Amino acid sequence: MMLEDFNEMLNDFIEKHQLDSDPHNFATMPPVKGELNGLCNRKACLKPGAIYYNHSTKKHYCPSCADMLNDYNRPGAMDLYGHDLCTRASKGD
Ligand SMILES: [Zn+2]
Repeated sequence: MMLEDFNEMLNDFIEKHQLDSDPHNFATMPPVKGELNGLCNRKACLKPGAIYYNHSTKKHYCPSCADMLNDYNRPGAMDLYGHDLCTRASKGD
């Protein structure tokens, strides 16, 4: 799914459910792709629980995708960042 399509879908959802005017519904908004605790940024995945921060794309990924990305990119990431490409994001990041 393209980001634009997703945003459009999200906007439709917000309009239909009048989330802006209802604080309770607003709190239960669908999670956002690539955001911390949102949906995994990988198009083929999009699972909720994106708690790993990818220092290259600056987006968040689920643990299984982060593992996969780390395994695949470890030598390059160690070279560039001195740590894995995806690291566990802590609250407040
Ligand atoms: Zn994922």
